[in-house]
Amino acid sequence: MENKIPYKIYLTEDEIPTQWYNVRADMKTKPAPLISPADGHALTIEEMNPIFCEELNKQELDNDTAYFDIPGEIMDFYKMYRPSPLVRAYFLEKALDTPAKIYYKFEGNNTSGSHKLNSSIAQAYYAKKQGLKGVTTETGAGQWGTALSMACAYFGLDCKVYMVKVSYEQKPFRREVMRTYGATVTPSPSMTTQVGRKILSEHPDTTGSLGCAISEAVETAVTNPGYRYVLGSVLNQVVLHQSIIGLEAQKAMKKYGIKPDILIGCAGGGSNLGGFAAPFFGEILRGEADYKIIGVEPASCPSFTRGKFAYDFCDTGMICPLAKMYTLGSQFMPSANHAGGLRFHGISPILAQLYHDGYFEARAVEQTSVFEAAELFARTEGILPAPESSHAIRVAIDEALKCKETGESKTIAFNLTGTGYFDLVAYQQYNDGTMTDVIPGDDVIAEALNKLPKIGNV
Ligand SMILES: *Cc1c(COP(=O)(O)O)cnc(C)c1O
Repeated sequence: MENKIPYKIYLTEDEIPTQWYNVRADMKTKPAPLISPADGHALTIEEMNPIFCEELNKQELDNDTAYFDIPGEIMDFYKMYRPSPLVRAYFLEKALDTPAKIYYKFEGNNTSGSHKLNSSIAQAYYAKKQGLKGVTTETGAGQWGTALSMACAYFGLDCKVYMVKVSYEQKPFRREVMRTYGATVTPSPSMTTQVGRKILSEHPDTTGSLGCAISEAVETAVTNPGYRYVLGSVLNQVVLHQSIIGLEAQKAMKKYGIKPDILIGCAGGGSNLGGFAAPFFGEILRGEADYKIIGVEPASCPSFTRGKFAYDFCDTGMICPLAKMYTLGSQFMPSANHAGGLRFHGISPILAQLYHDGYFEARAVEQTSVFEAAELFARTEGILPAPESSHAIRVAIDEALKCKETGESKTIAFNLTGTGYFDLVAYQQYNDGTMTDVIPGDDVIAEALNKLPKIGNV
């Protein structure tokens, strides 16, 4: 008889990894660099420094250093809410009557309610160390803005958040959490920027978009001395910081002799999937082990499964550099899927390259089936999951049910990125039976892909 694995596996404080792992160091084909939308040249650190923090730019451009020491101040902050537990989902397994063993890494156990704090604290630290006054950013659903305001409060940095106007109005509680941590939250588009005033004069009734909020945050950063712009996903540096999730999971598994067969993460901009899977990708890339890794995206915004591997703008406003990714086109407007954190047209260039080279697979799942999984998970495991995270739960359940059919006892691990307390309008629609599944037609995707930039793609 194997020893019973604890319900929750916690590393000790001393066992928390003290370095981040940079999966790019082990990639044979490196992710494509960010390029200028004007002439396609790869951006240099000198060109990036006026917009982003210097030390973060070094991390962004470093494809070779495998491990980065985590500064002591960041380790201290991590100890407030890390290590995060690796939980054996005994109750979910029982409900599914599956021979599979299911584990989840729970990243929602902090006030921001998601994994985003792992990177926001790092980004705030480097901004502070550079002697900056503050940082600017955009937030859609609000998780990133919340995580960044917590990190800025800790280091005494000013934090200016442009929040998509519709979310600002629909999610007043998120907004108040950010303000409690000292952030200035401005509904976007606003009169505080040139680009905001222009958009408002042309579309006075607009409820805003992420692309517009990005444009306002970037403008504010470059026009205010002592400010830089920070981003909560997609970039290489964010995947680097999020590797703490995977490194902890890997260490906890080794401690108890657990060997995962399948690793699952939801995919918005790709930071949690990239971070959770990073050390396991590393083992695959170095030829040490093999795992089935699955990225899960909403059927309403299917970048991997229906997008194109091409250079594209990261923002709808088309002012940011071009990144090579699986994209649906920067002009693709995802329908109102409730998993706000997964409504991005592109994906991390690291994951895009790994996917292109066949190192993992992707699945698109429909919203109502995601909430069915969320409901079962809440009732069995007791945690109210974020809609984003529930995409990973859906596929973990599907894989466990396959094991039931075949009688195989596979070990499945997924990343539970956050809690859903600010997503209760979505749960309400699910409970009322009014939730719908919107899947974009081929024509809609083709039209958005038609508008891909020429630069980088010839
Ligand atoms: C932002 C967010 C995601 C998606 O972002 P990634 O960068 O793809 O990880 C997933 N889950 C939660 C809870 C989020 O807040």
